[in-house]
Order: sequence, then structure tokens, then C-alpha cells
Amino acid sequence: MKHLKLNLLLFLGAIVLMLSCSSDSENTDDTDDTDDTDGTSDVASTPLSAFDEFNPDAVTISYDGEDITIDSNGLPNHTSPYWEETNPLHIDQVVAVALTPGRISDNRSYSLTVDSAPEIAASSTATGLGAIGIAVTGAPIFNDLEGNNRPIEEVIAETFDYAGAHNGPSGYHYHIESSNVPENTTLSFDDEKLIGILADGFLLYGRKCNSIGDHPTDLDVSGGHSSITQHDSDGKVFYHYHIINEFYFGNVIALFAGNLQGTPNTVM
Ligand SMILES: [Zn+2]
Ligand SMILES: [Zn+2]
Repeated sequence: MKHLKLNLLLFLGAIVLMLSCSSDSENTDDTDDTDDTDGTSDVASTPLSAFDEFNPDAVTISYDGEDITIDSNGLPNHTSPYWEETNPLHIDQVVAVALTPGRISDNRSYSLTVDSAPEIAASSTATGLGAIGIAVTGAPIFNDLEGNNRPIEEVIAETFDYAGAHNGPSGYHYHIESSNVPENTTLSFDDEKLIGILADGFLLYGRKCNSIGDHPTDLDVSGGHSSITQHDSDGKVFYHYHIINEFYFGNVIALFAGNLQGTPNTVM
């Protein structure tokens, strides 16, 4: 009888151990994923071919040792009602109901210097107002806020052009995914195109991932994961963000509404 009790205890103990092991190993896997990104041999640094996608009329990429600097004049290579009417890229409003004051102006400049092999930081960082990244078109990427404690809401969404951008005191900038309209011939809509680079040096792609040709299902809270993409990294995976395939509200999809998982640099 004593022997039976002991066996039962051992049996229960084994179950408890198995259960705790399996949840432990999930946690360990997560930690490993993070660790993988900062340096094991099967992880690549940011593939430089991604920078070929940036609008050469607006953006200059320069390399200095481990640093990559993205300089832009902020002038996007697509049509918008936010261009001055005299500009060939000016079009009438397609989706915007009302325009914010000001027009795309040629006296802006944006500069972002990032590490060529950015790493996941020990803790993530909330983004602030102003530019949080630079899009492939040359215009800056903003987060999901239009002011302090003022999230993008209906009345603000009505001012976005089909590119998901509007004008503000700090210039023309994107907040949301662009619209699927005939006028949109270049910008990402529910696809795997490169959107731009964020302040922590990680690339932002559209809602789909080239690695599976579909919406990824393994994204972290910021929309990030490690995989291969269409940008050659010698078959090695690297960490990047995707636009999260969820409506922010209505049919609005925010470009980036989470925390940066890397160490943010400042878009000057
Ligand atoms: Zn804005
Ligand atoms: Zn991906």
C-alpha cells in the first residue's frame, strides 16, 4: 500500500513536471527567438538590396562602417492632392474628404542613421510623435497618434489621401496603409512590398510575408518576426516588421502602432 502511494505520488509528480516543462520550454523558445536575432550564425544583418527600393530622387543611402544613413527630402514619388496644383503629381482628391492645411513642401529633410545589423533590445520602446521611420517613397512614417493622447480617429482618417498620408506642421507623412484604388500604382496594399525602415533599423513590410506569400501568423505584438524575405540575405532569416493585418478602426489599417522592438534612433 505504501508502495502504491509512492508510485502514485511519483506519477503525479511526473505529470506536474511534464506540464511545467512544456510551458517552460515555450517560454524558452520565445527567449531563444529573441536571442537568435542578436547574433547566431543563421541570422543575417539587414539585406542591403532592400535599400534599392527607396526612391532615388528623394532618398540617399550612405554607408559608414556599421552605420547606414538614410537621408530624404521627403518628396514622395506618387500622386497626391497634397501636391501643389502646379506640380505634375497633383491630382484631385480620390479618397480624402477634407485636406489638412499646407502642401507637400520641398524645404524638408529627414535623416536616420541605423545599425546595419540592428538587434532586439532588452525592452521595447514606445514611439513618439513625429517621424518614426522613412518610407521607400521618401516621405516619413508616423505612428497611430495625431497629437498627444490623440489617436487617429474618423475625422483625421478623412484627411488621408490614397497613400494613407496627410500634411502636418512637420510635413507630409504616412499613418495608415494606402488604399486599393487605380491611382495607387506603387504603394503597398495587402501585399509583401517594402514600406520603409523604422527608427530602430528594422524594415517594415506590407501585410504579407514573402516567406509564405500570405499573412504571417507568427508576429509579435509589434508585427515583427524573423524570416527570409524577397530581399536576399543568403537564405538567412532577419527580424522585420509587417503591417498588422487587422483593422485599427473601420477599414483603417495603421502602418505601425506598436512599440519598437529594437533600440530607436532619432529621425532628424
Ligand atoms: Zn498626421
Ligand atoms: Zn515577414
